[in-house]
Amino acid sequence: MLLPIIYIALGFAAMEFSGWFIHKYLMHGPLWMIHKTHHQHSKSFFEWNDLFSLLFGGVAVLLIFLGAESMDFRFWMGVGITLYGGLYFVLHDVLVHRRLTWFSKPKHPFLKGIYKAHQAHHKTNQKEDAVSFGLFLVPKEFFNSKEK
Ligand SMILES: [Zn+2]
Ligand SMILES: [Zn+2]
Repeated sequence: MLLPIIYIALGFAAMEFSGWFIHKYLMHGPLWMIHKTHHQHSKSFFEWNDLFSLLFGGVAVLLIFLGAESMDFRFWMGVGITLYGGLYFVLHDVLVHRRLTWFSKPKHPFLKGIYKAHQAHHKTNQKEDAVSFGLFLVPKEFFNSKEK
């Protein structure tokens, strides 16, 4: 059996890659009705779009549950997905969207890059003309620009 850390990294990476794909082709495609609640201002704390987080969380719980007895790759991939979900919440929901006011605007270049890339994604509230669909997988210019 490979080291657990490799499966954790795989679960983590799978979330960013499949997340990019799902966001670009499904959420800004046939599932726009749900995802658009994240692109439009609303007064309520929860968005229908949060269902996606529940769904991914459910996959992680299922994998951990199925792999727990033999402690196989499913368990560790579930852990990787859980880590990704936690980091996604802190970076996307707290740092960028400020659903909780834990931080002020980021100053670190890497965090600033993530922040600007996702702000660019939200420049539009339309299905078609959005850019930058990943959390980390974004056009690299967001990490190089000197302004602001
Ligand atoms: Zn979007
Ligand atoms: Zn967002």
